Amino acid sequence: MLTLTFLGVGSAFAKRNYQSNALLEAWADSPERQEAPDDVLLIDFGTTGPIALYSLMHVPGFSYLSCDGAIYYPAVSKILITHLHSDHIGGLEELAAMNRHRYRCQQSNEGVRASLFGSARVLDDLWHHSLRGGLGAVDGRTAQLSDYFVPVVLEPGVVSDRAGMLDRFDISMFPTDHIRISERFDWPTFGVLITDRQTQETVLYSGDTRFDPDGIGAMMASASISFHEVALDQEPNPVHTTLAELRMLPQEVRQRTWLYHFGDNWNSGAFDDIGESFAGFAQPRVRYVLFE
Ligand SMILES: [Zn+2]
Ligand SMILES: [Zn+2]
Repeated sequence: MLTLTFLGVGSAFAKRNYQSNALLEAWADSPERQEAPDDVLLIDFGTTGPIALYSLMHVPGFSYLSCDGAIYYPAVSKILITHLHSDHIGGLEELAAMNRHRYRCQQSNEGVRASLFGSARVLDDLWHHSLRGGLGAVDGRTAQLSDYFVPVVLEPGVVSDRAGMLDRFDISMFPTDHIRISERFDWPTFGVLITDRQTQETVLYSGDTRFDPDGIGAMMASASISFHEVALDQEPNPVHTTLAELRMLPQEVRQRTWLYHFGDNWNSGAFDDIGESFAGFAQPRVRYVLFE
């Protein structure tokens, strides 16, 4: 079984929900009969990620994420980064520092290093333009990304054995049309496609994107479930997808699509009929079963 749990479902600026980061958990059996999943992959870890994970570890069924009252970061052995906005990477410095300084790898007695998946440019820029400021020095020497993580380049469209879960669930990325410096895809941003090798069923996680039916509409049409970002407050929105745009998708696609990455006005009353047009607003700290 593969499940997805949002640490938060909010936009970059949301305050009533944590930012949109998601935990994939693969289970040889099921959460009802296991204390912890067999494999874990975190999609993004933003500024609110640490406090969101702290909140999640207190939810029944997620205690494997805690140790002596602190977040047990070694439980998160894989992390995939979609792009470099802080609501997707802002928690990585804490995760890296705690894994290096608080926890020990049993085999090496050194700090714990999670595998870090992303495109070559995202990983390079992540280190040189974001993380290096706080993590670039350790006592006695300068440090690099590989002191904290096992970086694994995951290029779009490529299925990596190292990102796969339980030899059954394939993870791949596709480019999304989020920020344009001057043209489509020139600022690297990705969504995630998850495939069950046993059934060839897929689940789509949009990542941050403008409305892009030409780019991802066919994947959404064939996916058994989609999670799509939505902006509720600005129409039109230059870098995100509006609700009005998502309403243009075919009804059968909308009804399999959960919305996430939304602002604090989701329950203002203006969107109470969302469940009639879509699967609904995704909820945080709830396990969604992607594949049985
Ligand atoms: Zn975002
Ligand atoms: Zn973004």
